[in-house]
Amino acid sequence: TVEKETMGFQTEAKQLLQLMIHSLYSNKEIFLRELVSNASDAADKLRFEALADGSLFESDPELRVRVTADKEAGTLTISDNGIGMSREDVVANLGTIARSGTAEFLKNLSGDQRKDSQLIGQFGVGFYSAFIVADRVEVFTRRAGAPADQAVHWESSGEADFSVEAHNMAERGTKVVLHLREDCKEFADDWRLRSIIKKYSDHIGIPVEMPKMASPAEGEEEPADKAPEFEAVNAATALWTRPRTEVSDEEYQSFYKHISHDFSDALYWSHNKVEGKLEYNSLLYLPSQPPMDMWNRDAVRGLKLYVQRTFIMDDAEQFLPLYLRFVKGVVDSNDLSLNVSREILQQDPVVDSMKGALTKRVLDMLSKLAKNEPEKYQTFWKAFGQVMKEGPAEDFSNKDKIAKLLRFATTTDDKVEQTHSLEDYVSRMKEGQKDIFYVVAENHKTAANSPHLEVFRKKGIEVLLLSDRVDDWLMNHMHEFDGKTLKDVGRGQLDLGELEGEDEKKAQENLAEQHKDLIERVSKALGEQVESVRATARLTDSPACLVVGEDDMGAQMRRILEQAGQ
Ligand code: ADP
Ligand code: MG
Repeated sequence: TVEKETMGFQTEAKQLLQLMIHSLYSNKEIFLRELVSNASDAADKLRFEALADGSLFESDPELRVRVTADKEAGTLTISDNGIGMSREDVVANLGTIARSGTAEFLKNLSGDQRKDSQLIGQFGVGFYSAFIVADRVEVFTRRAGAPADQAVHWESSGEADFSVEAHNMAERGTKVVLHLREDCKEFADDWRLRSIIKKYSDHIGIPVEMPKMASPAEGEEEPADKAPEFEAVNAATALWTRPRTEVSDEEYQSFYKHISHDFSDALYWSHNKVEGKLEYNSLLYLPSQPPMDMWNRDAVRGLKLYVQRTFIMDDAEQFLPLYLRFVKGVVDSNDLSLNVSREILQQDPVVDSMKGALTKRVLDMLSKLAKNEPEKYQTFWKAFGQVMKEGPAEDFSNKDKIAKLLRFATTTDDKVEQTHSLEDYVSRMKEGQKDIFYVVAENHKTAANSPHLEVFRKKGIEVLLLSDRVDDWLMNHMHEFDGKTLKDVGRGQLDLGELEGEDEKKAQENLAEQHKDLIERVSKALGEQVESVRATARLTDSPACLVVGEDDMGAQMRRILEQAGQ
């Protein structure tokens, strides 16, 4: 139908809108970044679709975003000649679809305005930020390739509903018109807009244009009906294609925020141009905090993939292993074909080689960070250490590199923070100590108080205190480090080797003999519940403790499987 239709916002979208309007006024200017970023995404999408159908460019191949303000009318307009939207797209994208992150977002609100405003971007709810500064928003849009009379006019005042009606539009793309709130008229000021665009959108790959400023020196009156000339306000080159030395830290950070939807700064990054057998640019970032959905297995991950500067897809997960899923960034390949699909990526040997190289790149970046900025590394470990611990199981070939990056709590200070590396541990090993010892328990306190540690504490031998859920899993895949075996002190007959004096060895042997009767009685009493009962000289304060057989599943692993119903 061509008639005007009014529809209600989907419930969660409505809640979000209310939030936007009423509480997120501390960082108003971000709305422009969100809208420019949508315009630039729309340009990327058009370029991608035009690979298969060049006619989509119509007669207008120069992709750009334009920002114009009308002070008198109190409006601000952001227009692009990107992919545009059909009526269905408009209804779905700007109104009714329950975007996957929205409910999660609302659940995570803290009431702290600054923190909450930082959450907005993470959930891809950018468009609604228009209502931070506008009390009425109009969208005029025509999908590339669609006839002029199939354009759409969307309008809403950001309350319960929005309307859509047919519209006629010669030019392709999307125009968002903001009717600025009374207290937001500052956003109709040219200088202000220029500085916001510079600040947030400098690295956008297409020009963000504004009308040329009238130069007073010329004196001549311009004819009123003359179309304004535009000029680019941003640098408009893909940041990752620029030489490292020419990109400032601010630019790297602002680009990070653009691609990650994270409002906090990145912790660290690595920007490389690779030439030779493979040719690609990569820009990889470590976030400083985990996203809220990190433990959700279906959460988006992966890099933004470009082929020869052309955007191909978001979340290309084939370029990094799962245990590095926290890495954000861009990879731009010269070897892949422009029409790669996810399916092709899965089988392409070029992708495999790139994955190997990018994995090394990330591990090197982490080693460098650990070495040069240990405090920052600690921030990283706190945020993502548990994910890194999946590494040795997933990535056998890089096991040694990953092992060096692991951090643990140990009996050296009994602190719950995981700050000690295996190299630290080895450097503190006692003379005659051949193995690296660890204990696993369901929490740090239990680990630190384990009766298995008594003999080690007495002899001053350090033990790793493991209590993360993944630790059993990790230790199942880490048998040695630097030629030393990793040994669970709660498992089997522990052999302390040279750490034990001759007398102690004898005592241990005699013990079994002396307490034969007791052992037999306990064995009978416990019956099938235990495999065997042994006397030990290791306990100094506790009368007895349970140990796990040498080849049995760890206690923690068993708990995980029990929880999973196995
Ligand atoms: P996100 O950009 O994270 O997807 P937004 O709320 O910013 O979330 O935008 C919602 C959706 O609306 C986009 O995914 C896109 O499909 C559509 N959209 C928004 N702005 C434009 C635009 N300028 N051109 C085409 N589509 C757009
Ligand atoms: Mg967006």
